[in-house]
Amino acid sequence: MPAKNAPKKASRKSLGLLERLAAGPVICAEGYLFEFERRGYLQAGAYVPEVVLEHPQLVEGLHRDFVHAGSDVVEAFTYYAHRAKLKIVGRERDLARINRAALAIAKKVARSTGTLLAGDICNTSIYATDDAQSHKQARRIFDEQIGWAVDAGVDFIVGETYSFAGEALLALEAIKRAGQPAVITLSVPREGRMREGWTAAETCRRLQDAGAEVVGMNCARGPATTLPLLREIRAAVTCHVAALPVPYRTTPTEPTFQSLTDPSGASGPDGRPFPTALDPFLCNRYEIGEFGKEALALGARYLGVCCGAGPHHVRNLAEALGRRPAASRYSPDMSKHILFGNDKRLRQDYLEYARRNYRSPAASG
Ligand SMILES: [Zn+2]
Repeated sequence: MPAKNAPKKASRKSLGLLERLAAGPVICAEGYLFEFERRGYLQAGAYVPEVVLEHPQLVEGLHRDFVHAGSDVVEAFTYYAHRAKLKIVGRERDLARINRAALAIAKKVARSTGTLLAGDICNTSIYATDDAQSHKQARRIFDEQIGWAVDAGVDFIVGETYSFAGEALLALEAIKRAGQPAVITLSVPREGRMREGWTAAETCRRLQDAGAEVVGMNCARGPATTLPLLREIRAAVTCHVAALPVPYRTTPTEPTFQSLTDPSGASGPDGRPFPTALDPFLCNRYEIGEFGKEALALGARYLGVCCGAGPHHVRNLAEALGRRPAASRYSPDMSKHILFGNDKRLRQDYLEYARRNYRSPAASG
């Protein structure tokens, strides 16, 4: 393994994806769609990343926030910036412009921070197993987006969020035709199998055999319903394994964020929490840290968080893996809190008040 023989001082900056994975975990922050939707710069529904063209400085800022929080990868925000999705919002003519802009923004951040630059392709939203014409259209979508990514000089390409195994394989073929390292991640539907009926493990093995450097899961499932399938994937392949769940508390009966129902009866306007009323299900940062430890322990090294994630999740993931990203300078220090602290400079009568009025978890037995 090249990384092991590299001089101790070798900057991580000079290492590619596989060298970094050989040396330890690699963090890739995702979740740009949901974050910009919450902030009011992207529309839920079509979820096309128009913000890339309209507010490029915000996209650059979020890339920087995620790197600050510990991401080793800057993933170009080209998710759903493909022909089929742009057509839905009447912006097909902006196809090249939005891809080139997203890649340029990501490249600027990656090259100035010593992180890896990833191109991104995803589910086409038009693929169907028995529709040969859709396969042709999917190939075109992949080839043109990969072309722009290669032009930008990406370090590798992510193909993500596939629930059809066949579509994931087409994406991989396209990445391999372009001679790029491939990270392919599956969004495993509620039923626990790909849309063709293949298991995630079987699909990942086929992806590995077809040349994928990293295979695994992203999106759709929260940590609790990602980890069991991840274990099966780990046992089925010898290549690197990826895990980028959504930060939501999914359950065995509601294993995907699309299937969650709110016990309080609250929901979004179309009768379900997904996608804009998921707040009560959000994992806290410590749960994401725990997920990172468990995923690493079972042998997954390419780790991140998908839709719903904020920089605080990424920072705790990084810290759980033993890192101290720049944002850790501001990690919590409750010793200075006016009610729950213990610093001698604090008003002691406040602390006494809190001791009387807020039972500590230890005391509540
Ligand atoms: Zn996602």
